[in-house]
Amino acid sequence: MILIRDSVHDSLNMIMFPENIGASLLNVDRVLLDKIMEDVVYISKTLFEERLVKGTFGVVSERIPGTEYVVITPTGFKKGKIVKENLVIVDLGGRVVSGNLKPSTETPMHVFIHKNIKEANCVVHTHSPMATVFSILGREIPCVTPEQVFNFGGKIPIVKKYSYPGTTNIEELESIVEALKISRAALLPKHGVIVYGETAEEALDNAILVEDIATSTVFALILGQPEEFTEEEIRYLQKFKELRYGQKKP
Ligand SMILES: [Zn+2]
Repeated sequence: MILIRDSVHDSLNMIMFPENIGASLLNVDRVLLDKIMEDVVYISKTLFEERLVKGTFGVVSERIPGTEYVVITPTGFKKGKIVKENLVIVDLGGRVVSGNLKPSTETPMHVFIHKNIKEANCVVHTHSPMATVFSILGREIPCVTPEQVFNFGGKIPIVKKYSYPGTTNIEELESIVEALKISRAALLPKHGVIVYGETAEEALDNAILVEDIATSTVFALILGQPEEFTEEEIRYLQKFKELRYGQKKP
């Protein structure tokens, strides 16, 4: 490892970067890169603490704004123990440009999402238990709570074409993007969950929220037959959120 000092900022901003850092990457703002890495570490640890990922599973990636690069977690690495020096930087083709560890085996899926959904600045993949119940069954999560409409616009879809973890199949990657264009969360059949957010905070909130929604829905299905919101009710709730919910944006 080498230390790189950002000339614009004081010595407190000395950041550790791997020695194999790519030449083009040297143009990336160091303070910005440090912030993105902190986001990825924070999300990884929070996913672990919230029990949305276990062992070495789960993946977090965030695009470095204004660049073709993505910071991603390494493969086979416990999210609860991750530090900035463990992270890998890849380009949108999935090629490693910086880092001493192998990137996630889900790198092709993550970079494909970053590349094809412009709002997807941060992408999170979990095996969160209750949402995974629906994914195992190949079932979408029906829309039975208002927060599901607020955050995901309605049902949480299941990806239509999907085979195995680590897929590089273009049709399957397109199918994942297609599902994520319906909702900012989707289910990977017999595997888990993929969500994105415009910010790191939103992506983490979405990962937590999809699990909460799935948990309530699983219990509702055990105890009875929950009634889904109709299309008209969904439109009402969408309008409600748009016009009345939350603070005005500055
Ligand atoms: Zn997985």
